[in-house]
Amino acid sequence: MKPVIDFIRSLFLLELWKGLSVTGRYLFGRKITVQYPEEKTPLSPRFRGLHALRRYPNGEERCIACKLCEAVCPALAITIESEPREDGTRRTTRYDIDLSKCIFCGFCEEACPVDSIVETDFFEYHEETRADFIMTKEKLLAHGDRMEPRIAANLAARAKYQ
Ligand code: SF4
Ligand code: SF4
Repeated sequence: MKPVIDFIRSLFLLELWKGLSVTGRYLFGRKITVQYPEEKTPLSPRFRGLHALRRYPNGEERCIACKLCEAVCPALAITIESEPREDGTRRTTRYDIDLSKCIFCGFCEEACPVDSIVETDFFEYHEETRADFIMTKEKLLAHGDRMEPRIAANLAARAKYQ
């Protein structure tokens, strides 16, 4: 009996019509393709994109060079050097994140006691050389300055989940 059924199925191209019905459903259904970059899908406030170092409202950098982020980083992507300032506080003299090693796990952000290092929702960047993938302290602070309103909004939104 099975050979007969198979013969009828192939004679009337049933498998083909079945496949085309799926195509037709999507052809005339609601379009879900997003025309990136003109259109964008919403991002979670917990999205982990490009890193930034933050400052306090008075312009002072938050980072106190405790090196917890460096210690917790599973990819060994963070390199910190520090020394005390004249006022006795300790600050970093070097803070590098090697993005070619980073796995965007967010551990650095979790470990930071002063909300200094954060991963922003910015992901539209590219670099062309390996050296450009090193995010220096200057680059991280500049990115933090540019992104501060969005960082603060995302941190406030995240707090609702905790
Ligand atoms: S996100 Fe993870 S891998 Fe990347 S620098 Fe932070 S701790 Fe390291
Ligand atoms: S970014 Fe945060 S965790 Fe890392 S050294 Fe600075 S204060 Fe410590």
